[in-house]
Amino acid sequence: MTDTTSTDFQDIPRLLPNGQLTNFPPSDRWDDWDEYDAKAWPEKVKRNYRLVPTTCFNCESACGLLAYIDKDSGEIKKFEGNPAHPASRGRNCAKGPATINQVNDPERILYPLKRVGERGSGQWERVSWEDALDDISGRIRTAIKEDRHDEIMYHVGRPGEDGFVDRILKAWGIDGHNSHTNICSAGARTGFAAWMGYDRPSADFANAKFILLLSAQLESGHYFNPHAQRIMEAKLAGTKICTLDPRLSNAAAMSDTWLSTWPGTEPAMFLAIASFLLETDQIDRSFVRRWTNWQDTMAGRHPDRPQTFEEFLEVLKEEYASYTFEWAAEECGISSDHLAQVAQQVADAGSRFASHTWRSAGSGNLGGWQAARNLWFLHVLTGSVGTKGGIQPNAWSKFTPKHWNTPPAHNRWNELLWPKEYPFSHHELSFLLPYFLKEGRGKLDVYFTRVYNPIWTNPDGFSWMEVLTDEEKVGLHVALTPTWSETAWYADYVLPMGVAAERHDTHSYETHSGQWLGFRQPVLRVAGEREGKTYHRTYDANPGEVWEENEFWWDLTWKIDPDGSMGIRKWVESSERPGEVVSVDEYYGWMFDNSVPGLPEKAKEEDLTPLGFMRKYGAFEISKTNYEVMEQPVVHDEVREGIAYSRGKPVGVDVEGDIVEGFTTPSRKLEWWSQTFDEWGWKDESIPTYIKTHVYWRDMDLAGNERILLPTFRLPTLIHTRSGNAKYLYEISHGHPLWVNPSDADSFGIGTGDMVRIKTQTGHFVMRAWRTEGIRPGVVAASHHMGRWRLADTTGNERWASALVDINEGEPGQWTMRQKKGIEPFESSDPDSERIWWRDAGVNQNLAFGVHPDPVSGMHAWHQRVRIEPAQQGDQYGDIFVDTNKSFEVYKEWLAMTKPGPGPDGTRRPHWLARPNKPTPDAYLYPGR
Ligand code: SF4
Repeated sequence: MTDTTSTDFQDIPRLLPNGQLTNFPPSDRWDDWDEYDAKAWPEKVKRNYRLVPTTCFNCESACGLLAYIDKDSGEIKKFEGNPAHPASRGRNCAKGPATINQVNDPERILYPLKRVGERGSGQWERVSWEDALDDISGRIRTAIKEDRHDEIMYHVGRPGEDGFVDRILKAWGIDGHNSHTNICSAGARTGFAAWMGYDRPSADFANAKFILLLSAQLESGHYFNPHAQRIMEAKLAGTKICTLDPRLSNAAAMSDTWLSTWPGTEPAMFLAIASFLLETDQIDRSFVRRWTNWQDTMAGRHPDRPQTFEEFLEVLKEEYASYTFEWAAEECGISSDHLAQVAQQVADAGSRFASHTWRSAGSGNLGGWQAARNLWFLHVLTGSVGTKGGIQPNAWSKFTPKHWNTPPAHNRWNELLWPKEYPFSHHELSFLLPYFLKEGRGKLDVYFTRVYNPIWTNPDGFSWMEVLTDEEKVGLHVALTPTWSETAWYADYVLPMGVAAERHDTHSYETHSGQWLGFRQPVLRVAGEREGKTYHRTYDANPGEVWEENEFWWDLTWKIDPDGSMGIRKWVESSERPGEVVSVDEYYGWMFDNSVPGLPEKAKEEDLTPLGFMRKYGAFEISKTNYEVMEQPVVHDEVREGIAYSRGKPVGVDVEGDIVEGFTTPSRKLEWWSQTFDEWGWKDESIPTYIKTHVYWRDMDLAGNERILLPTFRLPTLIHTRSGNAKYLYEISHGHPLWVNPSDADSFGIGTGDMVRIKTQTGHFVMRAWRTEGIRPGVVAASHHMGRWRLADTTGNERWASALVDINEGEPGQWTMRQKKGIEPFESSDPDSERIWWRDAGVNQNLAFGVHPDPVSGMHAWHQRVRIEPAQQGDQYGDIFVDTNKSFEVYKEWLAMTKPGPGPDGTRRPHWLARPNKPTPDAYLYPGR
């Protein structure tokens, strides 16, 4: 095989044995690549392309893409995988190449729009970027000058570059970062953080001997394409896979064992395995002795018992003795033989045991955060933490570059984001914002939604609609979005942001044991610059006036403080050109020159600058493996009570005489017992335990028509709001029936295709049923990826994805939605829009869900207790009814479960727990403490 490339493309074969074909165009020809036009067949029409790498924007995997830009027309013709990307290695799922649909979507928002009628009336006028920036910056300037900092809020759906907007918010001096995490992953994060401080796992699937998935990782989920590649590599090498899921997912179907557990019982199963490992002494004693906080546990929790490691093991055995296979099998609704088999596979895999969970049980259940915690317990016992084929903290694989000219932390605390009731919430209480505003806890003067669609995505969207149409509660709503959304309809400004090929940012994720950095870039701008063109701003190169956020935030920041007198402007002022805003080349040039290990040297080998290298390849591999980082010696200047410090900051721990890095918990060890949880009032929950879910199967009226609804699974080819503008993806996926086991369907008297009314705590919705053995009896499920709507025929949402609906409020808080028509062909500049053959836009379930904030993690517990019945006379497909007065009562019920701060030290939140846009330590103190 001849190597025709000038960079290392890992192990992917590029030439077939006959030497004639190449899987990927060799990188030294990316500026001049000939290919025959497939659409011109049978004619042989040669096209000459420039290939520019970028990063997919359609899920959090951040896979590499190569844009094929036709040199004659200057248009992007297609996207394929970028072979130089260390995580995706040239492979993508269907959503990656579908980026071409998003670029060419005939209904996309191409220019900044400003509302001209009532908010929500759907009347817009085109405005210039300059006018929009002047208006928005003026309001922000006034709010800051009047010390109304908490009235400015940035609310992110799909994140962009790590830390980028934090920089901006710090420059403004506000505590205004809000995220979607508490409707996504705060449960799992809390469970992982309790053990190790770090809030995410990173599995080394490719080298594992046994893989236990509490996720649908072969079809969806975080990093699913990079993960799926490596899981399948392991499978081909003989690795066994077990998947826990009440539903027969694609991942379950490809596994050796599928365990269809009752929702919310998964933590019990993990504790039964833990008990088995302890009782049969199939644990890695030296790892447990070295890396758990057993001394602190014995001193703090069992001061009267012998303070020995053997006694600690006795404590563990006693704690979990009642978690037998027989008990857990009955609790989970599975066979005890299967459970015993999986437990032995965990034991046999030892240090090469890998697992994954992220949303799943952690985001479905009250107390779901213990699912991740109990799963991690198995890794602690088997010593598979940080090992080859095991699992490790995400931070060891995720690379976070430094940013140019970073402002210091602010000293504020915004209680609309971090309320006193949730001191352990693993991110902002984002989905409670409408209730906080209704309760008068505050108001918003400028509210940015960034690639975020809370009306459609969050539970109880009608309550969002109520506050977003109330200008007393939300003064100015600015929607930064690449596509129309149900929430953008209620904005004052709709500002078009670029998709994967139209913006700059960097990314790094824990896709495997190894570190990499990816670079997203506006490919037409990059191609134009290679041809000698110059651009003032990225919107000069993108379609219409679609912009990128980096330049948007820099220009907005500059306009807030145009003369620099507020001390804000300096954070976006060019060092190279004083008096001007920093440029993308200066910003990323600094980052790649100064903070990416090995990149300058690698670039030099090819006679490129570091920025030139990233523009050419779109990604850089920093390291191939990262095992046992906790054992790395650390530079320190003192050791106090076993913790090593450098300049007053904890950096390591004394482990059996070695001063090494450890983890980021207070003890810098793996904490089986969390003293923090204990001291803040969560004594029972301070160790890995089993918390009964709010959808506990024994509490349900299963003899009647009550069932557990799983509303959280993804369709592999759709991705929340962002795939609405991708015709290929909707042609593949355009239905989401309610999965119902035939035994349940018989008891309800329904067949496949029959309409059913699904009653929740706050209302009901009507959809169609699908009888399938792929779901356990007692549980029903529908994907959350459909049910898009629009309120006007030709605008407000993409017509190949949305239904035209009527929304009405009868009595206050009594909301109905009815579909006027489903998806139909329409005329546009894309002839495919007249060929649409699918009709079903789906049904939004989330509108009819009350909020279920877990009192510890703050995570919305998505699973629902529902009653299923055949549709009633007059019901139509897609009908939705919601009473937001009841929604408010549900909010109050869950709020009553909390244990508000302050903590024992008078703080609002344990300082060691991560939080975005972290303020200075003094902001953690309650006023007057
Ligand atoms: S997994 Fe698919 S959607 Fe996600 S980044 Fe990769 S190609 Fe894009």
